[in-house]
Amino acid sequence: MRRSGLLVFAAVILILGLLTVPLLVKPARGPKTVVVVVLDTVGFSGVFSKPEQAPFLAQLAGDSAQFTNAFSTAPWTKPSIASVLTASLPASHGVQHPRSRLSGEAETMAEYFSKHDFATAGFVSHTFIGPKTDYRRGFQVYEQARFGGHVHDAITSAEVTTRGLEWLKKLRGPEGAANRDAFLFLHYFDPHYNYKHHPAFSQTDWYKGSLSDSMQYREFRERSSTLSDDDLRYIRGLYGEEIRFTDRQLEKLYRGLAEAGATKDLVLVVTGDHGEAFREHKHMGHGYLLYNELVHVPLLLHAPGRIAPQAVPYPVSTLEIFPTIVDLLAMPQLGSRLDGASFLPLVEGEEAGWGDRMPLFEVEYHTRKVGVVHWPWKVIFDQDSSVWEVYNIETDQAEAKELEASTRDVPAVVEAKERITRYISQESVVAPKATLPPIEYSDKEIEKLKTLGYMM
Ligand SMILES: [Zn+2]
Repeated sequence: MRRSGLLVFAAVILILGLLTVPLLVKPARGPKTVVVVVLDTVGFSGVFSKPEQAPFLAQLAGDSAQFTNAFSTAPWTKPSIASVLTASLPASHGVQHPRSRLSGEAETMAEYFSKHDFATAGFVSHTFIGPKTDYRRGFQVYEQARFGGHVHDAITSAEVTTRGLEWLKKLRGPEGAANRDAFLFLHYFDPHYNYKHHPAFSQTDWYKGSLSDSMQYREFRERSSTLSDDDLRYIRGLYGEEIRFTDRQLEKLYRGLAEAGATKDLVLVVTGDHGEAFREHKHMGHGYLLYNELVHVPLLLHAPGRIAPQAVPYPVSTLEIFPTIVDLLAMPQLGSRLDGASFLPLVEGEEAGWGDRMPLFEVEYHTRKVGVVHWPWKVIFDQDSSVWEVYNIETDQAEAKELEASTRDVPAVVEAKERITRYISQESVVAPKATLPPIEYSDKEIEKLKTLGYMM
C-alpha cells in the first residue's frame, strides 16, 4: 500500500511538472531594442514638477521604474553624457573641458553593443558630442541633427525622432535584418537655451514685458539681477514650452517604436544630462554649480514584461545606466573599469546596501567643485575656496538651508566627505593624463559655442 501510494505521488508530481513546464518557458520575444534617450538641460523638476508639463513622460513614468533620486555626474553636457556612455566618472573618462577628448580606456555603450552584434546608431544635436568627437566610437551610424546657423536657433527634436525611427524601420524592414538586435542613442537639445517659443504649447501669452524669445540667453543672464518676477516667469515659461514640445517628440518616438514592432523586447531609458537654474541659488543657466536644480535629473527605465512599474527612491547615478542595461539583458559583464554598478537589484526588491550608495558629481570647467549624495545628506566641496556645504535633501530638496556645523559630524556626512577627499586625491584627478590632443573646432563652431556661453 505504501509503495503504490508513493507511485501515485510520483505520478502526480510528474504530471504537475509537465503542466508547469510551459509556464516556465519565457514568452517569445522579438529582437532586442535598446533605446537610450538623453534630454539636454532637463532636470527632474523641469519634467515632473506638474504632470501637464510633460504628459507623455508622466504617462511613461507610470509604466516604468522611475528613479526619483537620480543624479548626473556633472552640471553640463560633455562630461555628463560621457559618463552615461562609458559608466565612468569625469576623472576616469577624462572629459572636463569643451576641448577634452574621451579617454580611449573607457569602453562606450556603442562599442559594447557593436561587439555583441547589435546594430548601433546615434542621432545627436550638439557639436560637443557630434560626429567629429570620440562620442561616435562604436556607432555604425552617427549623425548630428541640424544645429542652427548661428546659435541654437533651430528646432532639432523632431528631426532626431524622425532619423532614429527611419534607421530602425530600415533595419527591421524588408531590406534589413528583421531579427537584428539594435542599440539607438538619441540626444534631444531643444530645452537648452536659446529658448524658442512654441505657440502650440504656449505658456507665455500673458507676458507684456521687454524680453522676447529672439533674445540670446546671455542677455537674460547679463540682466539676471534686475529681472522682475514676471520676467523670470516668462523665461521659465519659454523653457517649459521647449520641454512640452520635446515631450511631444518623445510621444511620437514611442508610437514609432511600437509601429516598428520594437516594443516587443524593448529597454527604453530616458534621462537628462543636467538641469537648469532660474536664480534658485542666485544663478541662471548651468555649468557652474552642483545644486539639485542642476544635478537631480529624471531617470526612467521602461522595459515592458521585464521591469514592474514602480517608484524607486534610492539614490543612483546616471553612469550606472550602462551596467544596469547589461545586467537586465543578462549580457556579458563590462570589460572596462567602472565607477558604478547595476542598480537593477534596487528595482527587483534587493534593497540591502542601498544606504552605502554615494552618487558623485563634479565640475572643473568654470570652477572646481565636487559633490556627493549620501542619503539624506548632500555634501558639496568647493576646492577653490576649501568650503564645505551640507544639506538634508530629504527635508530640504531645494537646498535652501545649509546645516549647522554640529550636524556635519554625523557618520553619513563624514563618510561623504571622506569619499570626496579620496576622489580629489586620486591620481587621475590630481594629475590627469593629457595624452590626447585637444579637439580642434572651426572658427564658426567656436563662435557658436561662445554664444551659447562656453569659454573656449
Ligand atoms: Zn547639456
